[in-house]
Amino acid sequence: MVKAIVGANWGDEGKGKITDLFSEASDVVIRFQGGANAGHTIICDYGKFALHQLPSGVFYPHTTNIIGNGVALNIPSFLAELDALRQGGVPAPKIIISERAQILMPYHILQDTYEEERLEGKAFGSTKSGIAPFYSDKYAKYGIQVSDLFDEKHLFERLRAVCEIKNVLMEHLYKKPLLDPEVLMQQLLGYREQIAPYVGDALAFIQEAVAQGKEILLEGQLGAMKDPDFGIYPFTTSSHTLAGFGTVGAGIGPKEITEVVAVTKAYSSAVGAGAFVSELFGDEAETLRRLGGDAGEYGATTGRPRRVGWFDTVATKYGCVVQGATQAVLTAIDVLGYLDEIKICTGYEIDGVVTDVFPVPSRLEKAKPVFETLPGWKSDIRGVTDYNALPQAAKDYVDFIERKIGVPITMVSTGPKRHEITTRIP
Ligand code: GDP
Repeated sequence: MVKAIVGANWGDEGKGKITDLFSEASDVVIRFQGGANAGHTIICDYGKFALHQLPSGVFYPHTTNIIGNGVALNIPSFLAELDALRQGGVPAPKIIISERAQILMPYHILQDTYEEERLEGKAFGSTKSGIAPFYSDKYAKYGIQVSDLFDEKHLFERLRAVCEIKNVLMEHLYKKPLLDPEVLMQQLLGYREQIAPYVGDALAFIQEAVAQGKEILLEGQLGAMKDPDFGIYPFTTSSHTLAGFGTVGAGIGPKEITEVVAVTKAYSSAVGAGAFVSELFGDEAETLRRLGGDAGEYGATTGRPRRVGWFDTVATKYGCVVQGATQAVLTAIDVLGYLDEIKICTGYEIDGVVTDVFPVPSRLEKAKPVFETLPGWKSDIRGVTDYNALPQAAKDYVDFIERKIGVPITMVSTGPKRHEITTRIP
Protein backbone atom coordinates (compact mmCIF):
# COMPACT_ATOMS: atom_id res chain seq x y z
CA MET A 1 0.00 0.00 0.00
CA VAL A 2 1.25 3.48 -0.80
CA LYS A 3 0.62 6.14 1.81
CA ALA A 4 1.60 9.81 1.59
CA ILE A 5 2.34 11.92 4.65
CA VAL A 6 2.06 15.57 3.83
CA GLY A 7 1.52 18.96 5.46
CA ALA A 8 -1.90 20.63 5.50
CA ASN A 9 -0.44 24.04 6.30
CA TRP A 10 2.78 26.05 6.03
CA GLY A 11 5.18 23.26 6.97
CA ASP A 12 6.59 22.40 10.40
CA GLU A 13 3.37 20.59 11.23
CA GLY A 14 5.31 17.75 12.82
CA LYS A 15 5.44 15.53 9.74
CA GLY A 16 8.88 14.28 10.75
CA LYS A 17 7.59 12.63 13.88
CA ILE A 18 4.56 11.17 12.13
CA THR A 19 6.61 9.87 9.21
CA ASP A 20 9.09 8.37 11.63
CA LEU A 21 6.22 6.66 13.42
CA PHE A 22 4.76 5.25 10.20
CA SER A 23 8.23 4.28 8.96
CA GLU A 24 8.35 1.60 11.60
CA ALA A 25 5.79 -0.38 9.57
CA SER A 26 7.14 0.62 6.14
CA ASP A 27 9.38 -1.20 3.72
CA VAL A 28 10.19 1.88 1.65
CA VAL A 29 10.25 5.59 2.52
CA ILE A 30 10.53 8.06 -0.35
CA ARG A 31 11.27 11.77 -0.49
CA PHE A 32 9.63 13.03 -3.67
CA GLN A 33 10.08 16.82 -3.70
CA GLY A 34 11.97 19.70 -2.11
CA GLY A 35 15.52 19.80 -0.92
CA ALA A 36 17.63 20.89 1.99
CA ASN A 37 15.51 24.01 2.45
CA ALA A 38 13.39 22.53 5.21
CA GLY A 39 13.86 19.85 7.73
CA HIS A 40 12.15 17.28 9.82
CA THR A 41 12.99 16.97 13.46
CA ILE A 42 13.05 13.40 14.65
CA ILE A 43 13.57 12.34 18.21
CA CYS A 44 14.26 8.62 18.37
CA ASP A 45 16.21 6.13 20.45
CA TYR A 46 19.49 7.41 18.99
CA GLY A 47 18.80 11.04 19.90
CA LYS A 48 17.53 14.13 18.12
CA PHE A 49 18.23 14.55 14.41
CA ALA A 50 17.29 17.22 11.88
CA LEU A 51 16.87 15.57 8.49
CA HIS A 52 16.86 17.77 5.41
CA GLN A 53 17.77 15.37 2.63
CA LEU A 54 17.47 11.91 4.07
CA PRO A 55 14.10 10.18 4.22
CA SER A 56 12.77 9.62 7.72
CA GLY A 57 13.07 5.85 7.52
CA VAL A 58 16.85 5.95 7.99
CA PHE A 59 16.58 4.93 11.64
CA TYR A 60 15.04 1.57 10.78
CA PRO A 61 17.32 -1.13 9.37
CA HIS A 62 14.44 -2.84 7.53
CA THR A 63 13.53 0.27 5.53
CA THR A 64 14.87 1.29 2.12
CA ASN A 65 15.10 5.05 1.85
CA ILE A 66 14.76 6.66 -1.52
CA ILE A 67 15.68 10.14 -2.66
CA GLY A 68 13.26 10.41 -5.55
CA ASN A 69 13.72 12.07 -8.92
CA GLY A 70 11.61 15.05 -7.77
CA VAL A 71 14.08 16.05 -5.06
CA ALA A 72 16.73 18.77 -5.27
CA LEU A 73 19.77 16.74 -4.25
CA ASN A 74 22.20 18.79 -2.19
CA ILE A 75 25.17 16.44 -2.06
CA PRO A 76 27.22 18.10 0.74
CA SER A 77 24.10 18.23 2.87
CA PHE A 78 23.29 14.57 2.10
CA LEU A 79 26.82 13.52 3.10
CA ALA A 80 26.79 15.63 6.27
CA GLU A 81 23.53 14.04 7.39
CA LEU A 82 24.86 10.56 6.78
CA ASP A 83 27.84 11.50 8.86
CA ALA A 84 25.66 12.84 11.68
CA LEU A 85 23.82 9.53 11.72
CA ARG A 86 27.07 7.61 11.84
CA GLN A 87 28.30 9.75 14.72
CA GLY A 88 25.01 9.24 16.53
CA GLY A 89 25.52 5.48 16.37
CA VAL A 90 22.73 4.84 13.85
CA PRO A 91 23.47 1.69 11.79
CA ALA A 92 24.21 2.45 8.11
CA PRO A 93 20.81 2.90 6.45
CA LYS A 94 19.73 1.48 3.10
CA ILE A 95 19.56 4.39 0.66
CA ILE A 96 18.89 4.73 -3.06
CA ILE A 97 19.40 8.06 -4.80
CA SER A 98 17.40 8.12 -8.02
CA GLU A 99 19.70 8.41 -11.00
CA ARG A 100 17.11 10.81 -12.39
CA ALA A 101 17.25 13.20 -9.44
CA GLN A 102 18.91 16.48 -10.28
CA ILE A 103 21.80 18.01 -8.41
CA LEU A 104 21.55 21.22 -6.51
CA MET A 105 24.67 23.02 -7.72
CA PRO A 106 26.86 25.46 -5.77
CA TYR A 107 25.78 28.24 -8.15
CA HIS A 108 22.13 27.70 -7.20
CA ILE A 109 22.99 28.67 -3.66
CA LEU A 110 25.02 31.66 -4.88
CA GLN A 111 22.23 32.77 -7.16
CA ASP A 112 19.65 32.49 -4.39
CA THR A 113 21.85 34.53 -2.05
CA TYR A 114 22.61 37.19 -4.66
CA GLU A 115 18.95 37.45 -5.60
CA GLU A 116 17.90 38.02 -1.99
CA GLU A 117 20.61 40.70 -1.75
CA ARG A 118 19.39 42.33 -4.95
CA LEU A 119 15.75 42.37 -3.83
CA GLU A 120 16.68 43.65 -0.39
CA GLY A 121 13.48 44.27 1.60
CA LYS A 122 11.27 42.93 -1.19
CA ALA A 123 12.69 39.43 -1.03
CA PHE A 124 10.42 36.40 -0.67
CA GLY A 125 12.09 35.11 2.48
CA SER A 126 14.11 32.42 0.74
CA THR A 127 16.18 30.08 2.89
CA LYS A 128 19.02 30.79 0.41
CA SER A 129 19.50 27.10 -0.13
CA GLY A 130 19.22 27.42 -3.90
CA ILE A 131 15.82 25.82 -4.29
CA ALA A 132 14.19 28.42 -6.56
CA PRO A 133 17.16 28.62 -8.98
CA PHE A 134 17.41 24.81 -8.92
CA TYR A 135 13.80 24.22 -9.99
CA SER A 136 13.92 27.14 -12.45
CA ASP A 137 16.92 25.50 -14.13
CA LYS A 138 15.26 22.09 -14.09
CA TYR A 139 12.24 23.35 -15.99
CA ALA A 140 14.36 25.58 -18.23
CA LYS A 141 16.29 22.38 -19.03
CA TYR A 142 19.66 23.48 -17.68
CA GLY A 143 19.61 21.01 -14.83
CA ILE A 144 22.27 18.39 -14.13
CA GLN A 145 20.95 14.89 -13.49
CA VAL A 146 22.73 12.46 -11.20
CA SER A 147 23.08 10.14 -14.20
CA ASP A 148 25.05 12.90 -15.99
CA LEU A 149 27.85 12.42 -13.47
CA PHE A 150 28.67 9.10 -15.08
CA ASP A 151 29.22 10.50 -18.59
CA GLU A 152 32.05 13.00 -18.30
CA LYS A 153 31.98 14.35 -21.83
CA HIS A 154 28.28 14.98 -21.68
CA LEU A 155 28.58 16.46 -18.18
CA PHE A 156 31.23 18.94 -19.23
CA GLU A 157 29.17 20.08 -22.21
CA ARG A 158 26.21 20.65 -19.93
CA LEU A 159 28.33 22.63 -17.47
CA ARG A 160 29.77 24.80 -20.23
CA ALA A 161 26.29 25.61 -21.53
CA VAL A 162 25.02 26.44 -18.03
CA CYS A 163 27.99 28.69 -17.25
CA GLU A 164 27.48 30.64 -20.45
CA ILE A 165 24.03 31.70 -19.28
CA LYS A 166 24.77 32.04 -15.59
CA ASN A 167 27.81 34.20 -16.23
CA VAL A 168 25.69 36.83 -17.95
CA LEU A 169 23.74 37.14 -14.72
CA MET A 170 26.86 36.96 -12.56
CA GLU A 171 28.60 39.72 -14.50
CA HIS A 172 25.80 42.11 -15.35
CA LEU A 173 23.00 41.59 -12.85
CA TYR A 174 24.81 40.58 -9.68
CA LYS A 175 28.32 41.89 -10.43
CA LYS A 176 29.92 38.82 -8.90
CA PRO A 177 32.82 36.52 -9.85
CA LEU A 178 32.24 34.35 -12.92
CA LEU A 179 31.66 30.59 -12.80
CA ASP A 180 34.29 28.27 -14.22
CA PRO A 181 33.06 25.01 -15.77
CA GLU A 182 36.43 23.34 -15.07
CA VAL A 183 36.16 24.06 -11.35
CA LEU A 184 32.56 22.83 -11.27
CA MET A 185 33.56 19.70 -13.14
CA GLN A 186 36.19 18.82 -10.51
CA GLN A 187 33.69 19.47 -7.75
CA LEU A 188 31.14 17.18 -9.37
CA LEU A 189 33.64 14.39 -9.93
CA GLY A 190 34.45 14.55 -6.22
CA TYR A 191 30.74 14.31 -5.42
CA ARG A 192 30.36 11.40 -7.81
CA GLU A 193 32.83 9.35 -5.93
CA GLN A 194 31.05 9.94 -2.66
CA ILE A 195 27.51 9.26 -3.79
CA ALA A 196 28.15 6.49 -6.34
CA PRO A 197 27.45 3.69 -3.84
CA TYR A 198 23.92 5.03 -3.33
CA VAL A 199 22.90 5.85 -6.90
CA GLY A 200 20.47 3.45 -8.53
CA ASP A 201 17.36 2.86 -10.58
CA ALA A 202 14.84 4.06 -8.01
CA LEU A 203 11.96 3.77 -10.45
CA ALA A 204 12.53 0.06 -11.03
CA PHE A 205 12.91 -0.53 -7.28
CA ILE A 206 9.70 1.33 -6.50
CA GLN A 207 7.71 -0.37 -9.27
CA GLU A 208 8.83 -3.74 -7.96
CA ALA A 209 7.92 -2.78 -4.39
CA VAL A 210 4.46 -1.64 -5.54
CA ALA A 211 3.97 -4.89 -7.48
CA GLN A 212 4.88 -6.90 -4.39
CA GLY A 213 2.37 -4.97 -2.27
CA LYS A 214 5.09 -3.55 0.00
CA GLU A 215 4.31 -0.79 2.50
CA ILE A 216 5.51 2.42 0.87
CA LEU A 217 5.57 5.85 2.43
CA LEU A 218 5.80 9.08 0.47
CA GLU A 219 7.27 11.74 2.70
CA GLY A 220 6.22 15.30 1.93
CA GLN A 221 8.16 18.39 2.83
CA LEU A 222 6.65 21.76 3.78
CA GLY A 223 2.88 21.99 3.36
CA ALA A 224 -0.05 22.80 1.09
CA MET A 225 0.28 26.57 1.62
CA LYS A 226 3.79 26.40 0.13
CA ASP A 227 2.70 24.70 -3.08
CA PRO A 228 3.50 26.91 -6.08
CA ASP A 229 0.05 26.38 -7.65
CA PHE A 230 -2.30 26.16 -4.69
CA GLY A 231 -0.34 27.96 -2.01
CA ILE A 232 0.31 31.56 -1.06
CA TYR A 233 2.25 32.34 -4.25
CA PRO A 234 4.84 33.88 -4.56
CA PHE A 235 5.66 33.15 -0.91
CA THR A 236 5.71 29.48 -1.75
CA THR A 237 8.44 27.01 -2.42
CA SER A 238 9.41 25.94 -5.93
CA SER A 239 8.40 22.28 -5.96
CA HIS A 240 4.96 20.80 -5.44
CA THR A 241 4.25 19.98 -1.85
CA LEU A 242 1.12 17.98 -2.63
CA ALA A 243 0.63 14.24 -2.29
CA GLY A 244 -0.40 14.08 -5.95
CA PHE A 245 3.08 15.12 -6.96
CA GLY A 246 4.35 11.92 -5.37
CA THR A 247 3.35 10.15 -8.56
CA VAL A 248 5.78 12.32 -10.52
CA GLY A 249 8.49 12.89 -7.93
CA ALA A 250 8.82 9.19 -7.13
CA GLY A 251 7.44 7.43 -10.20
CA ILE A 252 4.30 5.81 -8.82
CA GLY A 253 1.08 5.36 -10.76
CA PRO A 254 -1.65 7.82 -9.67
CA LYS A 255 -4.00 5.01 -8.68
CA GLU A 256 -1.49 3.48 -6.29
CA ILE A 257 -1.63 6.17 -3.58
CA THR A 258 -4.50 5.00 -1.43
CA GLU A 259 -3.96 6.89 1.82
CA VAL A 260 -3.08 10.56 2.19
CA VAL A 261 -2.33 11.60 5.76
CA ALA A 262 -2.45 15.37 6.22
CA VAL A 263 -0.52 16.52 9.26
CA THR A 264 -1.70 19.69 10.96
CA LYS A 265 -0.63 21.29 14.22
CA ALA A 266 -3.07 22.24 17.01
CA TYR A 267 -2.04 25.86 16.45
CA SER A 268 -0.54 27.52 13.40
CA SER A 269 3.07 28.33 12.68
CA ALA A 270 4.96 29.47 9.64
CA VAL A 271 8.49 30.34 8.68
CA GLY A 272 9.09 32.98 6.04
CA ALA A 273 7.05 35.77 4.54
CA GLY A 274 3.50 35.80 3.13
CA ALA A 275 -0.07 36.14 4.37
CA PHE A 276 -0.79 34.39 7.66
CA VAL A 277 -4.32 35.37 8.59
CA SER A 278 -4.59 33.92 12.11
CA GLU A 279 -1.16 35.20 13.17
CA LEU A 280 -0.55 36.31 16.74
CA PHE A 281 1.75 39.15 17.71
CA GLY A 282 3.34 40.62 20.84
CA ASP A 283 3.18 38.86 24.19
CA GLU A 284 0.56 36.33 23.14
CA ALA A 285 2.77 35.20 20.26
CA GLU A 286 5.89 35.18 22.40
CA THR A 287 4.26 32.94 25.02
CA LEU A 288 2.94 30.46 22.44
CA ARG A 289 6.30 30.42 20.66
CA ARG A 290 8.15 29.84 23.91
CA LEU A 291 5.79 27.14 25.17
CA GLY A 292 5.79 25.58 21.73
CA GLY A 293 9.33 24.71 22.79
CA ASP A 294 10.35 21.72 20.76
CA ALA A 295 7.23 22.12 18.66
CA GLY A 296 9.40 24.66 17.06
CA GLU A 297 10.44 28.02 18.24
CA TYR A 298 12.86 28.00 15.37
CA GLY A 299 12.81 26.43 11.91
CA ALA A 300 14.73 23.13 11.76
CA THR A 301 16.76 24.35 8.80
CA THR A 302 17.02 28.08 9.08
CA GLY A 303 17.00 28.78 12.81
CA ARG A 304 14.58 31.60 12.00
CA PRO A 305 11.93 32.32 14.65
CA ARG A 306 8.61 30.87 13.59
CA ARG A 307 5.53 33.03 13.25
CA VAL A 308 2.71 31.59 15.33
CA GLY A 309 -1.07 31.93 15.36
CA TRP A 310 -4.33 30.24 16.22
CA PHE A 311 -5.51 27.16 14.38
CA ASP A 312 -7.01 28.17 11.04
CA THR A 313 -9.84 25.94 9.80
CA VAL A 314 -10.20 27.89 6.53
CA ALA A 315 -6.60 27.28 5.51
CA THR A 316 -6.51 23.73 6.90
CA LYS A 317 -9.74 22.59 5.23
CA TYR A 318 -8.37 23.92 1.94
CA GLY A 319 -4.97 22.34 2.65
CA CYS A 320 -6.65 18.97 3.20
CA VAL A 321 -8.67 19.36 -0.03
CA VAL A 322 -5.67 20.13 -2.22
CA GLN A 323 -3.74 17.31 -0.57
CA GLY A 324 -6.61 14.92 -1.23
CA ALA A 325 -6.39 13.95 2.45
CA THR A 326 -8.10 10.74 3.54
CA GLN A 327 -7.22 11.35 7.19
CA ALA A 328 -5.61 14.00 9.35
CA VAL A 329 -3.21 13.86 12.29
CA LEU A 330 -3.29 16.69 14.80
CA THR A 331 0.05 17.36 16.50
CA ALA A 332 1.32 19.40 19.44
CA ILE A 333 -1.98 19.62 21.29
CA ASP A 334 0.05 19.45 24.52
CA VAL A 335 1.40 22.94 23.81
CA LEU A 336 -2.02 24.56 24.36
CA GLY A 337 -2.46 23.31 27.95
CA TYR A 338 -1.66 26.74 29.45
CA LEU A 339 -4.59 28.60 27.91
CA ASP A 340 -7.86 29.51 29.68
CA GLU A 341 -9.55 29.71 26.34
CA ILE A 342 -8.43 28.98 22.82
CA LYS A 343 -9.35 30.84 19.69
CA ILE A 344 -9.84 29.17 16.34
CA CYS A 345 -9.97 31.09 13.09
CA THR A 346 -13.07 29.83 11.27
CA GLY A 347 -13.64 32.57 8.71
CA TYR A 348 -11.91 35.28 6.73
CA GLU A 349 -13.43 38.72 6.35
CA ILE A 350 -12.54 40.13 2.96
CA ASP A 351 -13.96 43.48 1.87
CA GLY A 352 -16.62 43.24 4.56
CA VAL A 353 -17.79 39.74 3.59
CA VAL A 354 -17.05 36.69 5.73
CA THR A 355 -16.10 33.50 3.92
CA ASP A 356 -14.79 30.06 4.82
CA VAL A 357 -13.38 29.51 1.35
CA PHE A 358 -9.63 29.98 1.10
CA PRO A 359 -9.04 32.81 -1.39
CA VAL A 360 -6.51 33.44 -4.17
CA PRO A 361 -3.30 35.19 -3.03
CA SER A 362 -4.31 38.74 -4.00
CA ARG A 363 -7.50 38.48 -1.90
CA LEU A 364 -5.76 36.60 0.90
CA GLU A 365 -3.66 39.70 1.58
CA LYS A 366 -6.87 41.52 2.55
CA ALA A 367 -8.31 38.80 4.78
CA LYS A 368 -8.96 39.52 8.45
CA PRO A 369 -9.51 36.59 10.81
CA VAL A 370 -12.90 35.75 12.29
CA PHE A 371 -12.46 33.77 15.51
CA GLU A 372 -14.55 31.43 17.60
CA THR A 373 -13.48 30.77 21.17
CA LEU A 374 -13.39 27.39 22.90
CA PRO A 375 -12.59 26.67 26.55
CA GLY A 376 -9.06 25.52 27.34
CA TRP A 377 -8.29 22.42 29.46
CA LYS A 378 -5.66 24.04 31.66
CA SER A 379 -3.65 20.92 32.30
CA ASP A 380 -0.48 19.20 31.21
CA ILE A 381 -1.37 16.47 28.74
CA ARG A 382 2.11 15.88 27.40
CA GLY A 383 2.86 12.25 26.76
CA VAL A 384 -0.74 11.01 27.12
CA THR A 385 -1.15 7.87 25.00
CA ASP A 386 -4.82 7.05 25.56
CA TYR A 387 -7.18 9.33 23.67
CA ASN A 388 -9.98 8.75 26.16
CA ALA A 389 -7.74 9.97 28.98
CA LEU A 390 -7.55 13.45 27.46
CA PRO A 391 -9.61 16.16 29.20
CA GLN A 392 -13.08 16.65 27.71
CA ALA A 393 -12.20 20.20 26.59
CA ALA A 394 -9.24 18.86 24.60
CA LYS A 395 -11.44 16.24 22.94
CA ASP A 396 -14.03 18.94 22.19
CA TYR A 397 -11.28 21.01 20.57
CA VAL A 398 -10.36 18.06 18.34
CA ASP A 399 -14.04 17.37 17.48
CA PHE A 400 -14.55 21.03 16.59
CA ILE A 401 -11.55 21.04 14.25
CA GLU A 402 -12.59 17.76 12.65
CA ARG A 403 -16.09 19.09 11.90
CA LYS A 404 -14.63 22.21 10.30
CA ILE A 405 -11.94 20.60 8.18
CA GLY A 406 -14.12 17.72 6.98
CA VAL A 407 -11.42 15.05 7.29
CA PRO A 408 -11.33 12.39 10.02
CA ILE A 409 -8.64 13.02 12.63
CA THR A 410 -7.19 9.60 13.35
CA MET A 411 -4.33 10.49 15.67
CA VAL A 412 -3.59 13.24 18.13
CA SER A 413 0.03 13.80 19.09
CA THR A 414 0.79 14.85 22.65
CA GLY A 415 4.53 15.39 22.58
CA PRO A 416 7.58 15.35 20.33
CA LYS A 417 8.75 11.85 21.21
CA ARG A 418 7.98 8.85 19.03
CA HIS A 419 5.35 7.23 21.21
CA GLU A 420 3.75 10.37 22.65
CA ILE A 421 0.65 9.92 20.55
CA THR A 422 -2.96 8.83 20.86
CA THR A 423 -5.09 6.96 18.36
CA ARG A 424 -8.56 8.38 17.90
CA ILE A 425 -11.45 6.52 16.35
CA PRO A 426 -13.29 9.24 14.42
P1 GDP B 1 7.93 19.04 9.82
O1 GDP B 1 8.62 19.95 8.87
O2 GDP B 1 6.47 19.01 9.61
O3 GDP B 1 8.52 17.69 9.93
O4 GDP B 1 8.09 19.73 11.23
P2 GDP B 1 9.25 19.53 12.27
O5 GDP B 1 9.22 18.12 12.69
O6 GDP B 1 10.53 20.11 11.87
O7 GDP B 1 8.74 20.53 13.39
C1 GDP B 1 7.82 20.22 14.27
C2 GDP B 1 8.37 20.33 15.67
O8 GDP B 1 7.34 19.89 16.51
C3 GDP B 1 9.56 19.45 16.00
O9 GDP B 1 10.40 20.15 16.88
C4 GDP B 1 8.94 18.24 16.66
O10 GDP B 1 9.81 17.61 17.58
C5 GDP B 1 7.79 18.86 17.38
N1 GDP B 1 6.61 18.03 17.59
C6 GDP B 1 6.03 17.13 16.76
N2 GDP B 1 4.91 16.64 17.31
C7 GDP B 1 4.77 17.24 18.52
C8 GDP B 1 3.78 17.17 19.56
O11 GDP B 1 2.79 16.46 19.50
N3 GDP B 1 3.99 17.96 20.65
C9 GDP B 1 5.05 18.80 20.78
N4 GDP B 1 5.17 19.54 21.88
N5 GDP B 1 5.97 18.90 19.81
C10 GDP B 1 5.83 18.15 18.70
